[in-house]
Amino acid sequence: MAKPNTRSKFKEAKWKCTAEGLYSDTICGHINRGPDQKCAKCNTHRPADVVFFTDETSEFITDKEKIADAKAGPDWRCLTCNYDNKAEDFHCVHCGTLRNKDEEEWLGLERDRKKKVYTGMTKAEKSGTSGGWKKYLKYVWFGLAAIVILILIFMFTGTTEYEVTVTGFSWEREILIEEERLVEEEGWDYPSNARVLSKETRQSGTKQVYSHSEWTEEPVYEEVLVGQEYVDCGEVDNGNGYIETVQCLENVYETQQVGTEQVEHEVYIDEPVYDTWYVYEVERWFYSYSEYSDGNDKNPFWPKYTLAKKERVQDEVGTYVVHLKSNDPDSKFQSLTYQTNESEWNAIKLNKVYIADVKRSGTVVRLKTQ
Ligand SMILES: [Zn+2]
Ligand SMILES: [Zn+2]
Repeated sequence: MAKPNTRSKFKEAKWKCTAEGLYSDTICGHINRGPDQKCAKCNTHRPADVVFFTDETSEFITDKEKIADAKAGPDWRCLTCNYDNKAEDFHCVHCGTLRNKDEEEWLGLERDRKKKVYTGMTKAEKSGTSGGWKKYLKYVWFGLAAIVILILIFMFTGTTEYEVTVTGFSWEREILIEEERLVEEEGWDYPSNARVLSKETRQSGTKQVYSHSEWTEEPVYEEVLVGQEYVDCGEVDNGNGYIETVQCLENVYETQQVGTEQVEHEVYIDEPVYDTWYVYEVERWFYSYSEYSDGNDKNPFWPKYTLAKKERVQDEVGTYVVHLKSNDPDSKFQSLTYQTNESEWNAIKLNKVYIADVKRSGTVVRLKTQ
């Protein structure tokens, strides 16, 4: 016999009493059984806009009477006294008025239940937000790492201001001379101005070449229908204190071996690749020596030099230093030096007072006028 495509299970829902006390603003808050029409604590009638809910303690009911109650249909509201009645009652249990379904419908008062259906619930949605916070953990670590890096940067780059007076100047200039020499080099290639001394054929690498194929017998798998099972596929508020869980019949598949097949595996072998290796001589420039000049004044000059054959200037380097003393006798740094470029060095005046930005190491980063 074929199983029905859907089946239903029922849970008794709960509702929270929202009645306000006579002499206070606090609400009752009592959690009642779903089907109860009156609050078990304060005896206030269940409100028309009641919100039914279930929680982890709600279990599927097995009691036959309760299941019949759950299936009976939504409660109805008496038009005379506003009292909620069970679907099976023909008369209002409060005032005795006969139920008038046509009028309920005409007024649009019939309970708007049997509409709240959530199909295709996934396991994650059902289990709520557990584990959700874990994905934010890595952002917390990133944040902490960033703070540590900022503290380190501050410790190494943070400066303190000192008032200083310029006590003198010094400078150093260097001219680096390089020399062209004939050297022997080798490689797969050579510069255009080189003279090739010898060449030979050498293996430069390998390449993969198809050799043959090997065939193996391997299993073939398929998804095979092995049966059917009910899975939760929706939830309905039955409007009478019960929540209906709809279960849908779904096919169950299993991966099974259905046979074998011949599979080709191509076999490749490494074959050597040859190229020409050159030994050649070529002119290259090398640092040879430096000429220096220095002084403790503000009149720098470049050292004199004479270039021999196959010599040229590689670089010219100038170092310009300002000597300072602290104006605060308690300062950690009494005498300081400030190295800068030539134009700033030229602009700084002897005996003038400046504010120096000094690193923890004692290095002056900047001189500012007051
Ligand atoms: Zn109450
Ligand atoms: Zn009534």
